[in-house]
Amino acid sequence: MKKLLFIIVMLCLTIITTACDQQSTGSDELRPDNTIPDSDSNSDSDSDSDTDSDTDSDSDSDTDTDSDTDSDSDTDTDSDSDTGFNVDTDNMSPAQLPPGGLSLSDTPVFVSIGFDDNSYSGLEGSLGEGGITWATDFFRPLKNSDGTDARVSFFMSAIYIGSWMSESPALVKTAWHTVWADGHEVGDHTYAHSHGDAFTIEQWTDEISSCMDWLSKPYNPSAAAYDDNKDEGAGIPADEIYGFRTPFLEYNDNTMTALQNLGFTYDCSIEEGWEDEQNGTDYYWPYTLNNGSPGNPDIGSHNGLWEMPVYALIVPPDDKCAQYGIPAGLRDKLHALLDWFDPVSGKMVGFDYNWWVQFKMTKAEVVAMLKYNLDMRIAGNRAPMLFGAHTDYYNTKYTAPENATTTERQEALEEFIKYALSKKEVRVKPYKEILDWVKNPTPIQ
Ligand SMILES: [Zn+2]
Repeated sequence: MKKLLFIIVMLCLTIITTACDQQSTGSDELRPDNTIPDSDSNSDSDSDSDTDSDTDSDSDSDTDTDSDTDSDSDTDTDSDSDTGFNVDTDNMSPAQLPPGGLSLSDTPVFVSIGFDDNSYSGLEGSLGEGGITWATDFFRPLKNSDGTDARVSFFMSAIYIGSWMSESPALVKTAWHTVWADGHEVGDHTYAHSHGDAFTIEQWTDEISSCMDWLSKPYNPSAAAYDDNKDEGAGIPADEIYGFRTPFLEYNDNTMTALQNLGFTYDCSIEEGWEDEQNGTDYYWPYTLNNGSPGNPDIGSHNGLWEMPVYALIVPPDDKCAQYGIPAGLRDKLHALLDWFDPVSGKMVGFDYNWWVQFKMTKAEVVAMLKYNLDMRIAGNRAPMLFGAHTDYYNTKYTAPENATTTERQEALEEFIKYALSKKEVRVKPYKEILDWVKNPTPIQ
């Protein structure tokens, strides 16, 4: 299996090189990322767990993605949280109970999507519909049961505004600025979306800070649709960029050191929930990396840097399938497709690449899985339900998944978010707002 992963990675490197070459000619090409969990053990699912595979490349259709003990909590509020610069004072151990000693019934169930890459604007002139604009249009009117706006997070790879990679940079800048103006969180997903598992601190710093620079360059709302002005960016205030996710979920300890040095508040690249004894009702709440990470023993101590994990999802077992509107046998079906999927635990990577592309799931199957996991969170320890997705998969230019159309993929996420918002205890919020609550937990109203 390791050899197979190596071959896939090498293939991807070749494809990405090709993509970069094509980029200079202005063709529509994206790079994919995604994640494949470690096949042989869940316990250290991450260092070698992700990979990517891109498929693609001679059409313009494709894309990418990425896909990547309780309980004492000394929370501590740092006064600098508004600036995005943590001051190494936060210290929260991985815990399976809500912070602040709150009872479960007083604890909101937070839900968020972290949309990565974001290269297809969906704007007029982009030759595609959906994508980033689908997401912003969908969320704009949505409210939580307490009347607050339902919003999520977007982690940008700045190469899509720094060069003509997927479509005109001016269109992508406009779509990204709209994301921020609508009240979603904008985070950093590096500049070039490279494979970084062997990067030095300096390499990570360059990639992460270059993305920050592009995001925070001034936005020009009157730029021509095909403008490529290198002095203009997405107009996101630098002090509103708090979070980072690594491409392909490939990272190392240097990633976390670079984030600390750059003053980031949180990382959201580490997978949690793959331990055998965890079952979707008892995942760790977000924690600081003061004592490393249960999800990845290779990560050392990074005082005050928060981890907002990529949580494993659980595919409904046979006796729950009917309740969620699908035939029994989904776990066996997925195992038959790829044998690393364990039909006993039913654990699936919390990223849409894996659902749509790798496991060729249908709309009904994805909706059933997401609803089942939310219901387990509500009945369980109420750890936030955070998962990753790619707006590019919800654009008509992206055609790879075989068992779900663009519209069906959009409808799946829409149906799940509306289901979540129908529950009085659920709050759909950006990662940073969820983290603010974890630091200062208050009972649900
Ligand atoms: Zn990515």
